[in-house]
Amino acid sequence: VVKTADVIIIGGGGAGLAAAVSAHQNGAKVIVVEKMSRLGGNTMISGSAYNAADSKRQSAITMTAPEKQTVENIIAGTYEDALVKTWQETLKKEWTEYLASGKTTLFDSPSLHKLQTYLGGDKKGTPELIDVFADNAYPAVEWLESLGMEFKDYVFTVLGGLWNRAHKPVKPLGTGFMETYENYLEKNKADIEVILDTTAKEFIVKDGAVVGVVAEGKNGKVTLNASKGVVLATGGFGANVEMRNKYNTVLWPDLTTVKTTNHTGATGDGIVMAEAVNAKLVGMEYIQLLPMGDPVTGSLSGNIEQGVQNRIFVNKEGERFVDEGARRDVMTKALMEQTDSYMWVIVDKNSYPTGDTKNNFNESIDDLVKAGRAFKADTLEDLAKQIGVDPVAFVKSVETFNKAVDGTAKDEFGRTLFDKKLDTAPFYAGARVPTVHHTMGGVSINANAQVIDANGNVIKGLYAAGEVTGGLHGTNRLGGNALADINVFGKIAGKNAATMK
Ligand code: ADP
Repeated sequence: VVKTADVIIIGGGGAGLAAAVSAHQNGAKVIVVEKMSRLGGNTMISGSAYNAADSKRQSAITMTAPEKQTVENIIAGTYEDALVKTWQETLKKEWTEYLASGKTTLFDSPSLHKLQTYLGGDKKGTPELIDVFADNAYPAVEWLESLGMEFKDYVFTVLGGLWNRAHKPVKPLGTGFMETYENYLEKNKADIEVILDTTAKEFIVKDGAVVGVVAEGKNGKVTLNASKGVVLATGGFGANVEMRNKYNTVLWPDLTTVKTTNHTGATGDGIVMAEAVNAKLVGMEYIQLLPMGDPVTGSLSGNIEQGVQNRIFVNKEGERFVDEGARRDVMTKALMEQTDSYMWVIVDKNSYPTGDTKNNFNESIDDLVKAGRAFKADTLEDLAKQIGVDPVAFVKSVETFNKAVDGTAKDEFGRTLFDKKLDTAPFYAGARVPTVHHTMGGVSINANAQVIDANGNVIKGLYAAGEVTGGLHGTNRLGGNALADINVFGKIAGKNAATMK
């Protein structure tokens, strides 16, 4: 089979479909090739938190003293990179204006988002990518809304997101995103073809430019020629144990037996394909784990947290062990040091006002309790007994935490993100373990989403977006930054593949 389109997109997750929509909006006829029998990738099974500074949705939130201190610490930091220094200057100006205004609502801006992203990745992220990313995060929310997507009218702080700027789709998991793209594809099916069950294998290169893709379908070879450009959007390699082990050299102990939140297709194919055309790879050693895996499957299903502010973690001894508002790598490392690398997430009625209140995975707390995946009690002592931790230590942990919430004591782990005390029955507990979640490394791109080769030159005709790319997140991706990443860079990649010479 031989087919031709203006733009060929490899991978039908969020980045690929954002690119497909964007390429089509810019006049291209498009083919999307997807190796699985359905679209969606990791995007479909993600928590779908989407970070963007958004003064409208943030106007309902009051800023706390520890949060003010966080902004001041970031402003006072020392930065070497010239672009990063401009963010610092902008933030300083915005912060002075904010203080002068006498406002009490949560402060936020793209500059703060940039600096938190950069610091959260240990200053290893690429400033030119972070700059484009945070500036376009909110415009991409509006773009999605223009395509019919609905977000809730509030924002929240997602695990490892560090700030209250995560947008929540009205529909559960990644379905809000996927339905939005797929509706667009369906309406424009005369111009956008989706080929499922077909695995891209290698790029077709002519005179140094990528001009197509050779793929393998159920009935053999499929050749896809691109008259304008190819977008690589094949996602990460979290489900490929061999590849994880090859690159996991700095952050973690052996990950061979650690489970993953990823779908089975997250095997890093696109990274290997890009390497074969001399693409530069960046940050391959940075693999993200979450402290939030289901003990049996590693998936995010069964996670009972509803945002960062209103839950704590305790170990098998019933003791807190980390700032639960910290970075994902920090929390996971701390969890690995606890007995059996095992913890309990503790919440109260504030997170589940009723038994049919659902978690992020569309599971009601009653159903989770019935299935034995969560525990429910009217007192902290009873909850401790049910989960087999020392009631005295457990009650003390919660009481000490509550003092930090009302400001009568400083948090013993330096936590800065609080809302309500954990003091209202019923109380709930759910077990969690470390799980592989995201691979920060991948193909190097520039701010136009063009793929860069090992010599620092653009590979003509080749664009990339999403988890297959590296650089943006440095050593550690902030929670809520992936959905923004795939939409911002998917949109740019699709447009540029359709229009750049
Ligand atoms: P992102 O968040 O970057 O969009 P996803 O994991 O959501 O990443 O989507 C990547 C998609 O690419 C998945 O649906 C996956 O099955 C698909 N994919 C991975 N490798 C290939 C390949 N070799 N050919 C076609 N599709 C692929």
